[in-house]
Amino acid sequence: MLLGITVLISTALLVFVVAPLLATSSAGEQAVPVDVTPLIDLKRRRLVVYENMQDLDFEYKSGKIAPNDYQSLRENYTREAAHLMAATKELELSREDDALIEREVAARRSQRRLQPTEEYVCSKCGFENPLPVKFCGECGAPVSPRVRGG
Ligand SMILES: [Zn+2]
Repeated sequence: MLLGITVLISTALLVFVVAPLLATSSAGEQAVPVDVTPLIDLKRRRLVVYENMQDLDFEYKSGKIAPNDYQSLRENYTREAAHLMAATKELELSREDDALIEREVAARRSQRRLQPTEEYVCSKCGFENPLPVKFCGECGAPVSPRVRGG
């Protein structure tokens, strides 16, 4: 029982010691403001769990932990790792979706750029209609498309 508590304390210590180390090691990533957000945070947490597991294995092999304690601790770590892994996968998938959508939008945008751009600016009130229209969305006056830059 006392041993279990010791293990818990050393585990907690490890988390507090290792986590800041990992945080500072990723300081380089923070220079790029892209996203130090959930994905990196999840990977960092997973790293900590794996390190804890390795440490646990080591302590078990050197006879510092009772098999029962080892078993339950390892189960906890495994569950946590699996949970973090699933969360990472989910996040990565949603990011892939985002990338796909971004690519489609970019392709559509460049396609549009190849065509002559028409503007639907009302000659009466000056309202820039955002969509191709025959009549001004602001005042209802007839609108004729105007080729941009021409
Ligand atoms: Zn108008």
